[in-house]
Amino acid sequence: MKKNVLTGLRPTGNLHLGHYFGACGNYLKLQDDYNFFLEIADVQALTDNFNNPEKVRKNTKEITMDLLAIGVDPNKVNFFLQSQIPEIAELTVYYSNLVTVSRLQRNPTVKTEMAQKKELFGNNGESITYGFLGYPVSQAADITAFSGELIPVGEDQLPLLEQCREIVRKFNSIYGETLIEPEHLLSDTKRVKGLDGNEKMGKSLGNAIFLVDSEDTIKEKVMKAVTDPNKIKKDDKANPDVCMVYYYHKLLNNNVEKVCSECKKGERGCVACKMELVNAINKLLKPIQEKRKYYEEHPEEVDRILKEGTLKAQEEAKETVKKVKKAMMIDYDI
Ligand code: SF4
Repeated sequence: MKKNVLTGLRPTGNLHLGHYFGACGNYLKLQDDYNFFLEIADVQALTDNFNNPEKVRKNTKEITMDLLAIGVDPNKVNFFLQSQIPEIAELTVYYSNLVTVSRLQRNPTVKTEMAQKKELFGNNGESITYGFLGYPVSQAADITAFSGELIPVGEDQLPLLEQCREIVRKFNSIYGETLIEPEHLLSDTKRVKGLDGNEKMGKSLGNAIFLVDSEDTIKEKVMKAVTDPNKIKKDDKANPDVCMVYYYHKLLNNNVEKVCSECKKGERGCVACKMELVNAINKLLKPIQEKRKYYEEHPEEVDRILKEGTLKAQEEAKETVKKVKKAMMIDYDI
């Protein structure tokens, strides 16, 4: 029997190369070996975008098309919309009694995000909502609703999974063995740096190449990428290790040795080097964009994939809630 794997993506923007070489690329390896539930986490996206529902609505389809375009196979992966599974909200309410506010505040992932928000809004965290603080509880509901046994996570998300495990243990100790305690599946994927040298490529950081970017946009972005500041003239010798263009040549495995050696010897100019990278990125993205075009022209197929996956997810979640309510003695037959 294949194990259940659950993962989710917040539909707040298109996928970029960071996703492609990171978590989403990993889905392609996992989809053959597991019973894979892929949640388009629109409700969770609203925790940060509650005042911008249009953005979340638009991106549910955008992100689904991106995933299909990179090769996530809807015959192997169960795509579903979080908002259409009311059982997740129901479980969130039940689990909210099993975790204290101070435990949520101490969760390292939540703490980091809260600190970022305080820095961003500068109001000592007064803008932090109940929904934001409680999202680890809602994540525990996501995972357990589909009996998630293995959860692909990066190191930074381990505390969120631990929170879920604590909730499951507490539930089982009070109400009897009902829920499966999930294990992490640490992905061997890397965090991709931004074109500006930032440790993370991010939608909101303005340093990302999106899978949907046109050739002209990619060229414009790559031309602005950070290179060795000591290289002024074409024949100056430079250090590729401080250059983001070289970093991306390595990421794409594109003539790495040649780029490195010519850069060190002062035998290549940065503009030509960037153009080579632009061509390599375009070559990578062309088949993805062609596949995506098919789905753009057949939106009914994207709807069908989401609908069928959501129906299956609803069945699974209903079964879990039935078990949970029975264990909590609120399974009235009225
Ligand atoms: Fe970077 Fe290429 Fe310029 Fe070297 S030649 S600094 S690798 S862009």
